[in-house]
Amino acid sequence: MSEEAPAKKELAAVKGTKDILPAEVGAWQAAEAAVRGTFELYGYRELRAPVLEYTELFEKGTGATSDVVVKEMYTFIDKGGRSVTLRPEYTPSVARAIIEHRLDLQPAPLRFYYMGPMFRYDKPQKGRYRQFHQIDVEVFGEKDPAIDAEIVEMAHALLSRLGVGETKTLVNSVGCEACRPGYHALLRAAAGAKRAVLCPDCQRKIETNPLRIFDCKLEPCREAAASFPRITDHLCPECRDHFDRFRACLDLYGIPFEVDPTLVRGLDYYTKTAFEIVTTKLGSQNAICGGGRYDDMMKEFGGPDICAIGFAMGMERLLAVADITVDRGKFLYIAHLGDEARRAAMTLARQFRRAGIECLLEYKVRGLKAHLGRASKLEASWVLIVGDDELKAGRFPLKEMASGTQTVGTPEDLIRTVNGDA
Ligand code: AMP
Repeated sequence: MSEEAPAKKELAAVKGTKDILPAEVGAWQAAEAAVRGTFELYGYRELRAPVLEYTELFEKGTGATSDVVVKEMYTFIDKGGRSVTLRPEYTPSVARAIIEHRLDLQPAPLRFYYMGPMFRYDKPQKGRYRQFHQIDVEVFGEKDPAIDAEIVEMAHALLSRLGVGETKTLVNSVGCEACRPGYHALLRAAAGAKRAVLCPDCQRKIETNPLRIFDCKLEPCREAAASFPRITDHLCPECRDHFDRFRACLDLYGIPFEVDPTLVRGLDYYTKTAFEIVTTKLGSQNAICGGGRYDDMMKEFGGPDICAIGFAMGMERLLAVADITVDRGKFLYIAHLGDEARRAAMTLARQFRRAGIECLLEYKVRGLKAHLGRASKLEASWVLIVGDDELKAGRFPLKEMASGTQTVGTPEDLIRTVNGDA
């Protein structure tokens, strides 16, 4: 976002949103192609849900006490009087779509991915926007911890395909319905004893969701939280076994990781596995990927009792650390000299395009020298020269700009030359 305000403020993009200009789009498209190319190798398929959902979906799914729901949602009343929200995250939409279309009747596990914009009314800063884009992965109906490791490995495969190095993988288990209440009681007691040093937000969290205190970035809260009991010491046998087997699978894939018992993730619904991939290359907004299990979400939505796991990766942060070189691609420029030549150039351009050759036609009337200057400025790969004599002969000079070599031939000959099979 540029700090230079345009002359007319009312025509500026909404604060925290960004135009993705043609010069940047190549990198986005390359990353999107890498996402599809990687995830489809693992059998994941795209599921596209709407940007707009009824507000209660996120209140129920994302969680009524999460910061995202409490502070960050773009919620409004539509003309029909219903409260709708621009999705702040994708998981609840997928759960809803599965229930609505009875996708759960298909053989499990269901493996889905998606890429698209999310909206959070957050404080904009570098790496944090109000409209941002996520790559999202969801698996429904597989409780084996091998799937937890599969998606972590798949995230790493994507990162390595995009040349993202210097990452750190943090893992934790946040327990389940069986072990969390006992742990929460311990945590509440420990946090209650430190109430005086905690910020007002964390004081509120002691009652609402004490696990979330670990998310606070303020130093006194972090210091206090360092002495709190660790969830990993209080897991039930099932969660402990799941966590052990998840880590064993990561070892099998040779993915280095660190156990971080304070990793609780910002959303309310996580159970058992939680993980994050952070980069050492970005400043404070260093999380590029975060995910975990949400085994109870479907049940809480009134749907079938199927477990689930997924992750979301921030596209803007991914692009900030990815190593993508974008090639503009070769294209042909047609230099037309005169009215009749201009008309002929239009049909010639169509002929070249139908043969799969990118062809740029400018309609401005120019002399040959001006055309060549323009083609070179645009970095055209070839220039096709169309003048009256060439039209009469039905043969045209094709200049290869890099070498300066010129070939003369019919359009069919030249299509073969350009396509490299002359
Ligand atoms: P979350 O849905 O909060 O778990 O976030 C998943 C990932 O999305 C993060 O690791 C970030 O890469 C990205 N992300 C979350 N919020 C924002 C934001 N406001 N702006 C840009 N990227 C974000």
